[in-house]
Amino acid sequence: MFVPERKHTIAVTVGNVTVGGGSPVAVQSMTNTDTADAAATAAQVAELYRAGSELVRITVNTHEAAAAVSEIRARLADDGLGDVPLIGDFHYNGHVLLRKFPGCAAALDKYRINPGNVGKGRNHDDNFATMIACAVEHGKPVRIGVNAGSLDAELLDDLMEQNAQASVPLDARSVFLEAMVQSALRSAAAAEELGLPRDRIILSAKISRVQELVRVYRALADRTDHALHLGLTEAGMGMKGLVGSAAGLAILLQQGIGDTIRVSLTPEPGGPRTQEVRAAQQILQALDIRPFLPQVTACPGCGRTTSSYFQELSQEVERFLHARMPEWSRTKPRAAELQVAVMGCVVNGPGESRAAHIGISLPGTGEAPRSPVYEDGVQVCTLEGPTLAKDFLARIEAYVARME
Ligand code: SF4
Repeated sequence: MFVPERKHTIAVTVGNVTVGGGSPVAVQSMTNTDTADAAATAAQVAELYRAGSELVRITVNTHEAAAAVSEIRARLADDGLGDVPLIGDFHYNGHVLLRKFPGCAAALDKYRINPGNVGKGRNHDDNFATMIACAVEHGKPVRIGVNAGSLDAELLDDLMEQNAQASVPLDARSVFLEAMVQSALRSAAAAEELGLPRDRIILSAKISRVQELVRVYRALADRTDHALHLGLTEAGMGMKGLVGSAAGLAILLQQGIGDTIRVSLTPEPGGPRTQEVRAAQQILQALDIRPFLPQVTACPGCGRTTSSYFQELSQEVERFLHARMPEWSRTKPRAAELQVAVMGCVVNGPGESRAAHIGISLPGTGEAPRSPVYEDGVQVCTLEGPTLAKDFLARIEAYVARME
């Protein structure tokens, strides 16, 4: 198995999670509740954390939200989740909120500062310095989170001006992307000058187009050893958001870039917020970077299959694996690496089934109605009849029980 070597970055401690420095790439997510509603926000933080989000960000946008942070922390502790690393997302008024609500500043494990949203001119520098001073006083790390949608306009103007004077000017988009990189790097340098240790700084520079995301993060990774948080911002809904995030993050992760990731999916109305957590886990698992859940290899089906039975069996197997994993993660953690194959006919069925830890090759059109089962590359039995699904799940259970 080829797993990309990670680029060296400085380790940053965020609550009980280490980001960077060769630590496992961490999954994070963000709530979409009104933070001032402490009960709803604590419930969603718990839901995201239990789904596998190792860091959870909440917006801290108003006095009421800042005042609620201590209660959110207390509610999580009451729920047995006092250790959830909680990140406060600040824009425009973070300097006011962090000073006015020291309980909020203390309860958070990290502050996200957007250098494009901390004010202009002298105010920019003063507000930024106030937030960094709070981080220093409370011993907290910060993420300097640049976003293409709120890029520091003064920095961009300066770089555009310099570019206009250059003998070979770059195109305007290249200057914009360079401004994103410089915004992150200059802010990190300013934070260090203000006394924030290097090992308390994480950087991000998110943008919504895949090729530009790759370009910006490669430039950042070349020019700093700060830990990097990755995400395709405003990825969008459904298929578009999933595929775009997977495409962008996979290219970067494959190049060893990225210490923590978020998939910024827009949930379907009424859909679960936790989908973004599963998506992030699946990206890491697809790249063999981190296992989270047993994986099912299933063929797409074609004219050789006469029914949708293999699709239904794949789904049943997948549901079974998801349902069993919480217990297996305590008793058989290596089950997360399990590969199960459910295949539709003899063409690729035996081959894929042999390549998996455990696999079943269902009969296609014209084949005898029997399904050979393979474990570790060896055919161990043949299943058929109405108990086939139940018998196959039992074999999976038995296989996991034998895992070290
Ligand atoms: S394994 Fe068989 S049924 Fe599945 S896609 Fe390939 S040929 Fe079609």
